[in-house]
Amino acid sequence: MAYREKVKALSDIERQSTEREKTGVFTGRYAINPLNGEKLPVWAADYVLADYGTGAIMAVPAHDQRDLDFARAFDLPVRPVLNTGGEDPAETGIATAGEGTLMNSGELDGLSKADAIPAAIAILEKLGTGEKFVNFRLRDWLLSRQRFWGTPIPIIHCAECGEVPVPDDQLPVTLPENLRGEALSPRGTSPLAAALEWVNVECPNCGRAAQRDTDTMDTFVDSSWYFLRFVSPHFTEGPFDPAKINDWMPVGQYVGGVEHAILHLLYARFFTKVIHDMGMLDADEPFSALLNQGQVLNGGKAMSKSLGNGVDLGEQLDKFGVDAVRLTMVFASPPEDDVDWRMSRRRAPRSSSPAPGALARMSQASPASMSPLVTARCAPSPTGPLPTPLSCWTTTSSTSWWPS
Ligand SMILES: [Zn+2]
Repeated sequence: MAYREKVKALSDIERQSTEREKTGVFTGRYAINPLNGEKLPVWAADYVLADYGTGAIMAVPAHDQRDLDFARAFDLPVRPVLNTGGEDPAETGIATAGEGTLMNSGELDGLSKADAIPAAIAILEKLGTGEKFVNFRLRDWLLSRQRFWGTPIPIIHCAECGEVPVPDDQLPVTLPENLRGEALSPRGTSPLAAALEWVNVECPNCGRAAQRDTDTMDTFVDSSWYFLRFVSPHFTEGPFDPAKINDWMPVGQYVGGVEHAILHLLYARFFTKVIHDMGMLDADEPFSALLNQGQVLNGGKAMSKSLGNGVDLGEQLDKFGVDAVRLTMVFASPPEDDVDWRMSRRRAPRSSSPAPGALARMSQASPASMSPLVTARCAPSPTGPLPTPLSCWTTTSSTSWWPS
């Protein structure tokens, strides 16, 4: 199938992009809607991913933008099933997401979305055509990687005994010290599997020749519970001191970028819940409050190696001093908003100055408006003109008065 070959060449991210024109082919087959017996045409389309649920979805073009784009591209009917009070998506081309009451839905008409979901499941269960199912987004790829950098899986494989856990008194299993540089170059197997001196051990159970597991765990496995270790970093009897952990947990405030939402937060919560279920921790949620901080952009785009729009921190520090750079970062915007490093660059005090906008603004600000600490440090001469914070910071010692 030509369509299949074309789709294979695209990444998941390209396929899910809402910007792309929707493509697909009609399979010539129909499915039966299990709730009302209606015949539904089956299409293959690349924006539906094989690892999402079963890989087959029932499209709701009136209430999902990608489904609506697809329906409009292939002239498929757009039937609203939720009255949100919005305009008809078939006319506007804008899917109506959000809350409302069901319509065009037989006996579910008039129910809210929250009530209609369990009601529809109850009907399917009664008919024997479906059942309630919880779909987890947590994936197990964190636990079996063929990279060197990571925590070894503490399991020994024995031909006689099978998978044998490494005894507690031999934990933690650490990476071999001698694997560096050339020793890590590709050789048809994972770097750890090639380190035979490390791999070959005695089975802790029967003493026969056995092999260590050569996969590693992703760094997420560590970051999912490190905050528990912070409570008692020198404790040697286990991962954390049970006498202290409940005084401190949960963490009062989590600060992280929005990209943490589906990875770090998901895994940290999972680990915490497991540790709670094991009876080792009272809290069953790791963090009480969340702040997603904004990003520092440059020219409207996230700084990245591939765009080459990064700002060299060392150069900024040399030029403006560490205090000016820190103060600029802190005062440039509320912590949850994005900052554009180039913002209002044209307002730089000297046209030849490459000072980026936020720093330029800081350099123009009156020292009197800064904290007394800053003015104290600048200590303007009583006769001369008031120095701008930037100029005085760059001429005074760059030793920071800020606690790091
Ligand atoms: Zn054995």
